[in-house]
Order: sequence, then structure tokens, then C-alpha cells
Amino acid sequence: MIEREEIFKDLASPGTKTIDAHSHAGVDLTNIVRRRYPIAQSIIDMARKMNANGITHAAVFPGPSDLFWFDPRKVAFDAVWEQLEKPAERFPYEHANIAHFAEVELFGNGQIMPFANILPGTKEDEQLNLLKELLDGDRLFGLKLHTLATHTHALKLIGSKFTEFATEHSLPIMIHSGPDEYSRPDQIVEVAKKYPDTRICIAHTGDYEKDLFAVLTKDGLPNLFTDLAPHITNCYFAQRRDDGKILDLDYSKPRQVIMDLYKMIPDRLLWGTDEPWTTVTDDNNHKILTKVVYEDEVTLLGDLPTSVRKDISYTNTMRFLFGR
Ligand SMILES: [Zn+2]
Repeated sequence: MIEREEIFKDLASPGTKTIDAHSHAGVDLTNIVRRRYPIAQSIIDMARKMNANGITHAAVFPGPSDLFWFDPRKVAFDAVWEQLEKPAERFPYEHANIAHFAEVELFGNGQIMPFANILPGTKEDEQLNLLKELLDGDRLFGLKLHTLATHTHALKLIGSKFTEFATEHSLPIMIHSGPDEYSRPDQIVEVAKKYPDTRICIAHTGDYEKDLFAVLTKDGLPNLFTDLAPHITNCYFAQRRDDGKILDLDYSKPRQVIMDLYKMIPDRLLWGTDEPWTTVTDDNNHKILTKVVYEDEVTLLGDLPTSVRKDISYTNTMRFLFGR
């Protein structure tokens, strides 16, 4: 069962519910050719990890790479992403999205809430036809744009049919953020300002950038959320960043970082894990940078005061996912 309304009713019913707002399933081609791992996770794996750790629900996206845009040779040898002359699918994410929803139907157990990946600016009508089919079956929980994996700026969502579609059907949009030129948090903020009735989440806490948190705390933007996925690993990288652009927090204490962020944006912070990319390895040196497992992130969540835990893994997440 993956009907959205049914899962909403289950989530809204009495009893403790804990939602992971950001995780993945499927295969990721970029990770394969750049020799980073993990390279895949099945829906069965994800559901088992959740059950073993008391996580009742999760929003899950397909792996970020597609077969329309992604040329393994060019990415592997030249780090270039561009549309293929003879793609292996009719439109971006055709195969990944179809496989994702089929797998959730089989093994999602009413716990997994599938998002569809989108690529604005390329064959939008064809992508939308599939999204409409999923929507008609009440199976679509939201849209995911991976800016870095497609080398596409979030600004491309302005004027896009996807944003119109999300607004019309009250679907949330999750957008990857990072320090690279395609994934700037300020561009995502622009989209959120342009579409105040569309719920948008900046993934990965925008790398804790001061400018982003200034906007989140001062400008309001009640439609703009940010998620912690994958928090332990994000803190590892933040400890090694010294360009003065990030919030001045003690990143050697991930629990304290969550508490500090929560004080700033108690109603917009979401807990998520980025599983299976809780662990991150180095592209070039084949070195393990952080060896984190799902249980570590869940343990950290469990260490928080009950009211904080409930807000970031349930109340705020419900508002982001369902707008109610
Ligand atoms: Zn992710």
C-alpha cells in the first residue's frame, strides 16, 4: 500500500511516529564511476534498517543519477555531465522513477513514502506524464531535484511546469544543496520566495551557511525547510571548513549542533539521514571519510529532548510533506 492519503491517516493516528525526511533507494551511477560507496540500497534494505531502529516512516528518493543525462565515460574520465546523444531512456529518470515506485509498491509496507526525481528544462512534459500517472494513483509524495548530479541550478525551477505541478497538487519539493556552483542555498531561497505556496526543503542544512540561516531566521519564509541529512557526516565536513561562511558552532558535538540549529529554526528543521550515504568515502583516494550507519543517526536523534525530537522527526516533517 502506498496511497498517500492512507499513509497520512496512519501518520496522523495516535501513537509515536518517527519520520526520516531524506533517504534514498536504487543505484547511483555517479558513485559507481567515481568509486565512492555505498553505490546502492534496496527498498527492502531501507525498510529493515527502519524497523530495526524504530523509524516508522521515511521519505525516499531514487539515486541521483539518470540515464538520459549521465554518460558514464564522460563523468568517469572528464567529470562532465551533459545530455546524451542516444540516451537509454525517453526522458530523464524514466527508468529510475518507474523502478522506485514499483519497488516501494512491493516492499514499502506502508512505511516508505516515495518521491520522484525531476530534471527541469529537459522533456518536462514527458516527465510530467509519468508524475501525473503516479499522482492519479495517489502514490506520489513529492519531487526531488539533485542539482549537483544533473549540473542543474535550482533557479531552473522558476517558471518550470514542475513547480506549477507541485503547487497545484500540494506536493513538497526537496532540493540538494552544497558548496558547488549548481547547489547554492541562495538559489533555492529564490525559488521559495517566488513560490510562497510551495513547500521546499533545502537538503543537508545548506552546509550550515550563515547567510542561509540569516534568511531562515529573519525573512520568515514559512514554506522553506531544511533537513539535517546526514548530520554526523555533515558535522565532520564542517569541522574541516574554514572559509568563515558557516555558523560558528562546535561541530565536534553533533548533538549540540542540532540543539543550536533548533533554537534558530524550531519549526523548519527536519531530521533525515541520507541513508545509504550516512557513510561517505573519498572519490580520489578511495578512503573512508566517515563510517556512519543508520543506527548512529537514530541514536543521536534518541538523545535529544522529547519535544525537540518530536518536532524535527514528526511535527515539522508532517507540515513539509503534507502541508497539514
Ligand atoms: Zn540525499
